[in-house]
Amino acid sequence: MESLRQHSSALSADVLVVGAGPVGLSLARLLGLRGHQVTIVERKADAYPLPRAVVFDDEIGRIFQNLGLTDEIQNISQAVPDHYEWRNSQGQTLLAMDWSGTGPCGWPIESFFSQPVLENVLARAVADMDNVTVLRNVELTGIQETTDGIVGTCRGPDGPWSIEARFLVGCDGSRSTVRELLGVGMTDLDFRYDWLIVDASLLPEMPPIRCRRSPGKACTRGSGTPRTSRGN
Ligand SMILES: Cc1cc2nc3c(=O)[nH]c(=O)nc-3n(C[C@H](O)[C@H](O)[C@H](O)COP(=O)(O)OP(=O)(O)OC[C@H]3O[C@@H](n4cnc5c(N)ncnc54)[C@H](O)[C@@H]3O)c2cc1C
Repeated sequence: MESLRQHSSALSADVLVVGAGPVGLSLARLLGLRGHQVTIVERKADAYPLPRAVVFDDEIGRIFQNLGLTDEIQNISQAVPDHYEWRNSQGQTLLAMDWSGTGPCGWPIESFFSQPVLENVLARAVADMDNVTVLRNVELTGIQETTDGIVGTCRGPDGPWSIEARFLVGCDGSRSTVRELLGVGMTDLDFRYDWLIVDASLLPEMPPIRCRRSPGKACTRGSGTPRTSRGN
């Protein structure tokens, strides 16, 4: 990563975005397109390489359109052609959602995607913008409110430093530092599940995709060369 000293313009911004996940990158792109000076700080050196979120709906599609990325997102996503089903261990269908067709926002009702690939599209889009700076390997550790904004304290490869901004937006995920620093409460409903996500390349001769979820089995989209990740 380039030294912070090469980024002196990043040390003040209209908006400081904390976190370069899909939400932080999308917000930075939206603000940048409207002419605001944006700095993103991201504590990790690289984007997380494994798949997590796998579908987005038509409303999110419209947000991607507002980011000016319609072609790029359509190139890396695939409309769900029919249903999403949940079955019990006897194979009986418990829930079948019709996901075929176009939603009210003009995009497919649901589209499959790979989160690392999507994040790469978003990261490239903000990298092309002169008024958006992404600083990786930089962690926000403190926030101080001032009369006309905030001062964010960060820890990076060059040691601690601070940045002034009119606004700060926490896009730093479920274990949000920003929420903790601001003392914002959250009710954890303790949703816990074991996950197995299989990211597979489909063979050209595959039949139409059906997405099924059964107890003890992964959500299947067909076969191919799988990559897996687990979580809970
Ligand atoms: C196993 C699994 C399966 C999932 N499946 C789905 C799904 O099917 N559908 C769905 O919609 N969602 C799914 N999700 C959730 C989805 O991945 C997240 O909702 C999404 O990544 C949230 O994006 P985000 O940008 O808000 O946060 P994140 O992707 O968490 O990004 C936050 C970023 O902030 C950075 N950060 C945190 N603290 C600091 C700090 N102090 N300073 C600087 N940077 C910081 C982090 O390093 C991180 O890069 C799944 C998640 C997991 C783990």
